[in-house]
Amino acid sequence: MSVNAILTFLKNILSLDNAESEVVDIVDGKHAGAVVVARPDHCVSRQQVNENALKVLYRLRREGFDSYLVGGCVRDLLLGREPKDFDVVTNAEPEQIARIFSNCRLIGKRFRLAHVCYGRDIIEVATFRKAARDEKTQAPRLNKDGRLLHDNVYGTIDEDVWRRDFTINALYYNIRDFSIVDYVGGMEDHKAGLIRLIGDAGERFREDPVRMLRAVRFAVKLGFRLHHDCEEAIAPHAHLLAGIPPARLYDEISKLFLTGYGVQTFELLRQHGLFAVLFPATEKSLQSETSDFPKMMVINALENSDQRIADNKPVTLYFLFAALLWDPMLRRAKDKMVKGLPESNAYYEAASEVLTQQVRRIAIPRHLTLAIREVWNLQPKFHLRTGAKPSRLMAHPRFRAAYDFLVLRAQSGDVPADVAQWWEAYQHENEPNQRKMTQPPVQEKTGKPKRRKTYRKKAKNSPSTNPLLDAHD
Ligand code: ATP
Ligand code: MG
Repeated sequence: MSVNAILTFLKNILSLDNAESEVVDIVDGKHAGAVVVARPDHCVSRQQVNENALKVLYRLRREGFDSYLVGGCVRDLLLGREPKDFDVVTNAEPEQIARIFSNCRLIGKRFRLAHVCYGRDIIEVATFRKAARDEKTQAPRLNKDGRLLHDNVYGTIDEDVWRRDFTINALYYNIRDFSIVDYVGGMEDHKAGLIRLIGDAGERFREDPVRMLRAVRFAVKLGFRLHHDCEEAIAPHAHLLAGIPPARLYDEISKLFLTGYGVQTFELLRQHGLFAVLFPATEKSLQSETSDFPKMMVINALENSDQRIADNKPVTLYFLFAALLWDPMLRRAKDKMVKGLPESNAYYEAASEVLTQQVRRIAIPRHLTLAIREVWNLQPKFHLRTGAKPSRLMAHPRFRAAYDFLVLRAQSGDVPADVAQWWEAYQHENEPNQRKMTQPPVQEKTGKPKRRKTYRKKAKNSPSTNPLLDAHD
């Protein structure tokens, strides 16, 4: 057998990347208290690691520092999935990292992080951290709700590990010997498919309530179960999400709903009382016993997005928000009309109020709230199917999204199916046929032709078909 054949053989049975240079250093003296899983006993291969991340890891090591991959990338590699990003952690301090890499920039004020840039590929390198503790009591520094105040003191790997959220997110891949260092039983939980908080679940949620959303996100994304302690602690702490800055919640919501598992995520968020805190007006609609439509609308919108993601098509968050907030907006408008407000004003005010309230909880950027309003405002125009109006509507830059929204409403029972079908047909017809489709009804053509102005006025005033038009035209 040639040397190469032996190496290939070794590589296959041990799944080693580079058997010549492999020195599995199981006990390196730095990881007291941790289980060190040697390279042959796990499936993380350097072939799956981003080459720039490897460059950073090796370079730090050559300069005499420790360097590891940590977090989601190790977790995902263990599952054979492609990680979203590769996070490097080291005992080098940011200024030392900046001296080593000419392509490095330091970001962050409170806690500095290094970004090592290879064109558009950015490798984030963090220095080990520990939770800041009170000098006298040695307890972590928390606010009155138990929220962690400071997390910005440099530490060692065995201090860094305890501030991470879940055991499966606290595994370190050591570039020194390609082992995985596990202080918290993360490998066992990984095998069992369990999302378990490090430490006391309630305390960890109080320190940072966003961890509840992360628990749901990872459970759905990985197909894992929430550990009993984690699951039990969510409902009593769900209300704490209301104290999280809306911009941070917006980031989390994007991750929750735009990763292809929207429906399951929605169900799990609702089951644990988290959805009600994030979307209070929608939750109220969903609890209404008068109709299935609000839930259908939300589920259908999420299913559509999930399908688009599965098909590698682009998805937009504003479309989902428009669907989530549509029924709350309609209800509010109806209440206003009952109180005597003219229809057009009622819809206009309802849209503003619903969006303003939602933005206080989740900071939906302004360009998205504008898009939501546009999609909503175009809905009544789909009922105007004569003359030049359909072709004008089709030329509107937001037509596509507004049409998709109409289809969603039709699927959910909010609008007769034939309206959406008519538009489906109209879009695909040639011009002469489109003209035929948009002619006024035959009886109006016989006898004295109606004046255009009279016809327009009628359509505008029809309350059942044209609720928003006046306000925004
Ligand atoms: P993703 O695949 O979404 O990137 P991730 O686990 O890598 O998942 P990041 O937000 O990139 O998530 O965070 C990287 C790591 O930082 C986590 O794996 C975890 O160890 C730690 N971490 C992130 N957010 C928190 C938090 N709120 N509390 C504690 N640790 C956290
Ligand atoms: Mg990550």
